Amino acid sequence: MSKLALLGGTPVRSKPFQEYRTIGDEEKQAVLAVLDSGILSQFLGVYHPHFYGGPKVQQLETDWSKFYNVEHSVTMNSATSALYAAVGAVGIEPGDEVICSPYTMSASASCVLGWSAIPVFADIDESTFCITPESISRVITPHTKAIVVVHIFGHPADMDGIAALAKQNNLAIIEDAAQSPMAKYNGKYAGTLSDVGVFSLNYHKHIHTGEGGVAVTNDAMINQRLQLIRNHAEVVVDNMGVTNLVNMVGQNYRMTEIEAAIGIEQLKKLPSLVKKRVEIAAYLSKKLSGLPGITPPKLRSGSVNVYYEYCIKYSQDQLGIHRDLFVDALTAEGIPMYKGYVRPIYLEPLYQQRIAFGSKGHPFTNYNYQGSVDYSKGICPITERMHEAELMFTDVCHAQTSERDIDDVAAAFEKVLRNLGDLEPLARSRQ
Ligand SMILES: *Cc1c(COP(=O)(O)O)cnc(C)c1O
Repeated sequence: MSKLALLGGTPVRSKPFQEYRTIGDEEKQAVLAVLDSGILSQFLGVYHPHFYGGPKVQQLETDWSKFYNVEHSVTMNSATSALYAAVGAVGIEPGDEVICSPYTMSASASCVLGWSAIPVFADIDESTFCITPESISRVITPHTKAIVVVHIFGHPADMDGIAALAKQNNLAIIEDAAQSPMAKYNGKYAGTLSDVGVFSLNYHKHIHTGEGGVAVTNDAMINQRLQLIRNHAEVVVDNMGVTNLVNMVGQNYRMTEIEAAIGIEQLKKLPSLVKKRVEIAAYLSKKLSGLPGITPPKLRSGSVNVYYEYCIKYSQDQLGIHRDLFVDALTAEGIPMYKGYVRPIYLEPLYQQRIAFGSKGHPFTNYNYQGSVDYSKGICPITERMHEAELMFTDVCHAQTSERDIDDVAAAFEKVLRNLGDLEPLARSRQ
């Protein structure tokens, strides 16, 4: 019956959890070899063999395609760049509506604005936190042209239902699998189930190259357009014989040889890193199952969750105190735990004030846009409820975490639940 740490007692755990680290000697040697070669990037923004980048970039793309069993992989300097390239590659035009998730990293929606198109937000499912065929169908209009599906926190979205809906309505699908490398939906990899899938190689993801991203596709035309947008399309199309000039304004989204060399080594490590993460998350779920008011992450049958974050649903109805106080109590016990994820994207000032490019409201006020998108508070009630009161997550489920560490997490939950009554004065004072 020890006293809660939030009320001055001794915490369950004072030792910090291990940081997630994936870089080792393999990456170091690979980088040194690139440095020795003197060629840190071999891209040329013209129609030339070097338009496709250097040997490490091309090897990473070959390895990535083989690993994910896709026809084409196009490396970029970030997943954000890859998302921008993907929206352009599928032919989105100014004023088109693209359906997005409101509960994701901001670029999953701003990539749409980047082509002067309009993000329209569909609500999430309260057990997978992904957008669903039902929520998407509610916001389809005659202006809808595509869906950006995010496999959030490591769990795949319901791709069969979404693909059927897209087919009926003639919509392109882009999958944002930044948080879900090796996640599976009915035996197939998330990110490989649509027109284009996007993976991230930023520092916080399952594997990383510092910064980086990869777009994958089985469509030769989309592949070519991704490569053109990555690398100065406007001065390449003519010599390449490309006649569809729609969105062929290029950027420099190119990955360097150094990052590619690291990526080649990181990809080899991905299966074991993911396996350990899944095992440790399963161990935590087993320990938390049966606790009142706490729902461990749900898993759709046929799906593999790769637990970018370990998300728990909290019930204030059952436990009486607000999630935020419960999380404060866990944090005080030495367990890293976060209150909700990001603010629902449409509540950010850009969407509330409709100021993106310039001061006159482009693209929302552009004559190309014939729709009437709504960004009011309340449009995605499940998302808002998850964010404000029901979702909490921890980032301790990864390959450097042991079962003993997880025992501490479970012990902290049990301790807080056992002493919930002691938190009531604090709960009242916060109302
Ligand atoms: C990290 C992340 C991105 C962006 O990745 P970068 O490589 O940092 O640009 C996009 N979408 C989601 C869901 C992410 O988690």
